[in-house]
Amino acid sequence: MASEPIMRIASQLSRLPGIGPKSAQRLAYHILNLPLEQVRELATSIWEGRKSARTCSICGDLTANDPCPICSDKKRRADQICVVRDPRDVPALEHMHSYSGLYHVLHGAISPMDGIGPDDIRIRELMARLSADVEEVILATNPDVEGEATASYIARLIKPMGIKVTRIAYGLPVGADLEYADEMTLSRAFEGRREL
Ligand code: ZN
Repeated sequence: MASEPIMRIASQLSRLPGIGPKSAQRLAYHILNLPLEQVRELATSIWEGRKSARTCSICGDLTANDPCPICSDKKRRADQICVVRDPRDVPALEHMHSYSGLYHVLHGAISPMDGIGPDDIRIRELMARLSADVEEVILATNPDVEGEATASYIARLIKPMGIKVTRIAYGLPVGADLEYADEMTLSRAFEGRREL
């Protein structure tokens, strides 16, 4: 039986995704061996990062400042909006260094099985952003059932407005998570996007 401090740290860590009881205990031992100052830095960065995180009122990305750095960047193209499911998809796409438009984070995908409809994700907010300046909406939701359903729903809403709607190509494995795609695959998928 591990000692009380180990148990306490491990039980918190095991509540995080992808961390089982064994990894949690291994990390807990590691943490107890770190210099106190480093542990303070770790704990503070988690605490302060979480406390300052808010949702950008324009794109829905997580940010410390509203509007977020991408929405506030005047050098970015305001005529392209790339629609993604989760905040964590934004850094994945930014990593390509080839897209300079804006983003819209849906915070979910349409999934009738889970009772998630169009009104439960940020589609209304997306529609409100579509002014005459927007020339293209790029649908970069995941290539899985929910991502496809979400993309075709949004495409049906937007196309009658005369705005070009594209879907990223399938260099991406079906069922894959955008955030885990390597840069090359993601760049190709992005460049090969087709009009819906
Ligand atoms: Zn933003």
